[in-house]
Amino acid sequence: MEKCIVCGKTAEKHHIVYKNQGGIDIPLNYVYLCFEHHRGIEGPHKNRKIDLKYKLKFQNELKNILTKDFYSMSELIKLLNINPRQSNILLTQIKKYKLGYRKNDIIKRIMGGRIYE
Ligand SMILES: [Zn+2]
Ligand SMILES: [Zn+2]
Repeated sequence: MEKCIVCGKTAEKHHIVYKNQGGIDIPLNYVYLCFEHHRGIEGPHKNRKIDLKYKLKFQNELKNILTKDFYSMSELIKLLNINPRQSNILLTQIKKYKLGYRKNDIIKRIMGGRIYE
């Protein structure tokens, strides 16, 4: 059973980039929160600041993981801990260059088509 990262109570899965924002169902896009820290006034669905905080943290995590400029599909499967089906969903809309997929395109896609400031 997963525990809330804020308080340690029993948690539910939250998609940091929501599915309706273009978020992808991959483990890195999950954060575990109890009902209160998920749906309550201090949770990302009700509190825009907290929502943004999780998104920025996630985006930075992606920048730390993807240190090169270009990646192959198999590298991304390993680094992002995703399966081939998830990698297809991720890469289908991204341009493939001779050197592979561009880091910035990958991050933008995972963030739902935008970069957060
Ligand atoms: Zn909690
Ligand atoms: Zn949620």
